[in-house]
Amino acid sequence: MERATIVRVREGLHARPATCFVKLAKSFQSDVEIVKGANRVNAKSSVKLMLASVLEADPVVVRTSGADEAEALEALVRFLEDPESGIEAGGAATPAAPAATRTDASADKDDGRTEDGGLRGIAASEGKVVGPVFGYFPPSIDSAERMLAEGEIDDEIALLSRSVAVIRRRMVDSLSAPELSPVHRGIIAALAEIVADDAVIEEMATEVRKGRDAVTAVREVIGKTAAAFAAVDDPYIAARADDVTAVGRQLCLELLGRKDIVLEDIPAGSILVAEDIGAFDLARAPLDRIGGIACAQGGATSHIAIIGRSHGIPTVLGLRGGIEALRGATEIALDGTHGVAYDVLDDDLRARFAAAVAKAAAEKKALAVYRSIVPKRADGTVIEVAANIGSLEEIDAARAAGAMGVGLFRSELLFMLQTGLPSEEMQYQTYVTLARAFAPHPVIVRTLDVGGDKPLAGIQFPEEANPFLGWRGIRMCLDRPDIFKPQLRALLRAAVGGNIEVMLPMVSDLGEVRRTRALIEDCAAELTAEGVPFERFAVGVMIETPAAVMIARELAKEVSFFSIGTNDLTQYIMAADRLNSSVAGLNDVTNIAVMNAIEMTARAGVEAGIMVGMCGEAAGRVDLIPRFIAMGLTELSMSPASIPRAKKCIVDLTTAT
Ligand code: PEP
Ligand code: MG
Repeated sequence: MERATIVRVREGLHARPATCFVKLAKSFQSDVEIVKGANRVNAKSSVKLMLASVLEADPVVVRTSGADEAEALEALVRFLEDPESGIEAGGAATPAAPAATRTDASADKDDGRTEDGGLRGIAASEGKVVGPVFGYFPPSIDSAERMLAEGEIDDEIALLSRSVAVIRRRMVDSLSAPELSPVHRGIIAALAEIVADDAVIEEMATEVRKGRDAVTAVREVIGKTAAAFAAVDDPYIAARADDVTAVGRQLCLELLGRKDIVLEDIPAGSILVAEDIGAFDLARAPLDRIGGIACAQGGATSHIAIIGRSHGIPTVLGLRGGIEALRGATEIALDGTHGVAYDVLDDDLRARFAAAVAKAAAEKKALAVYRSIVPKRADGTVIEVAANIGSLEEIDAARAAGAMGVGLFRSELLFMLQTGLPSEEMQYQTYVTLARAFAPHPVIVRTLDVGGDKPLAGIQFPEEANPFLGWRGIRMCLDRPDIFKPQLRALLRAAVGGNIEVMLPMVSDLGEVRRTRALIEDCAAELTAEGVPFERFAVGVMIETPAAVMIARELAKEVSFFSIGTNDLTQYIMAADRLNSSVAGLNDVTNIAVMNAIEMTARAGVEAGIMVGMCGEAAGRVDLIPRFIAMGLTELSMSPASIPRAKKCIVDLTTAT
């Protein structure tokens, strides 16, 4: 039997809707196929179904054949025709972003070590720690292809089936862990779905029947499947290529009888030393037991930096070759604030670290009283001290620190830890949860700021000679309304609560603001037509390019607020890459050139009567806050840990005048 229909499932059969559809198809005995154009796929395979890229508004034919074909056809068509089918309930979250820089390079010696013998890396999450090394260097899969003799094939098939069963069970066990966060659960569920796909496993078995060893068969099928995902012109689906590869690796290791290094085995207080860590491994990590993180790879927005910061784990990344020395040590020290790792510990260093840890604890205690204080300028104007966060998991820490709302929600982090791009619904749930948590204070969501040095799975980025000057932030979003519009729609829907504001990253031209406004209006018209409730939100811009500073007066006429992004503004004003240790001396926010740019921006905003805030790292610097307040800034947004200190600074300023 067959029936033609138009897919109405919102955003099509990707991710969860695809899984739900497959589950429904599998509940019937009949064979089920979906035909889209010339493509006909087995609808009981979520991998095949996702590869068919069935999108909202696509015409398809559903075919069923078997004992219960009529009921199956009815139920499946009903599913496809319901916009709400398989839509996620409940938000998800991701951890916070660091502003990672290589600092103090001028103090380094010729061998790349600091004066006091440390290894220079990137400061990714503040704090100091000393602890034993837990090396995390997962084995590579280097087995050579082997042709099987006729008599070996059955045994090899049995080995493949056993290994698949082990991995399936492992995924199910991981999913039942109660402490798993929604994001991590999503990652594991995505992997579990692939390994549970009989059609893919059957392809592997077919390769084995041709005489190829199981590891080669798995690598072959996984390679082809991952490439097929990567080639799909839908970013939600293309991003699944990474999941497929991760599953292949697990299977190969099991077939080879090799044990992966398991982060669950990390003893409490140990420092994780690794080349790099992937999302799946992080998903299983007992973060409360990790004392510190040191990695060869990684930068400001790598998963590790994000997790480290949101969980208060001192983290040093980008240690490159230095990781070998740390790997060989038994006990190391990390200074996440300055981005230095020490493989040789003497009494002096131990004493310094112990004193710093004690001082930080004492300071934290003394500052607790400032949490509930509303700091004001001498003229009575409230100075909003808000939090920079990137996930729902940081809400409690931000509130406990006394955050007066969120001055920067780095929404790209939602996109980065997902296994695919987050759906409109998932974003909506996240923004609503945030808005409610901080009401009546504002929650400023920054629209997707990826590209250049921080690419995203599922989006094809061009090779760029100068990624920091390339296709990033608002530039990329305006070129990709398919990605931008779901975010704007989610924000419009979440704004019904009244305290959502939106800011645009990397703005360098008025046209970017105007085009975004036009897109917002398109989204508003769509939501009106669909009868979905929404409200318009205040739109602001980040001031983080020299061009934005130069047109601040014009911008101020078109937006509701400015938020100065000193991390990028410094690198662009000084033409000094924020990740390049060789020019770290120039990458200095206190340079008169940068301070002048901040002052120009503040003046333009104050004259136009709009709010001027700051969300770059400099906002939390107590040595600079008095100058920013004097310039007219009325909002400072920073990592939650800095909030009490900043409030005290403002209070002291007022009482001193
Ligand atoms: C900035 O550039 O100052 C900023 C806050 O944005 P990010 O660090 O995320 O680039
Ligand atoms: Mg920036």
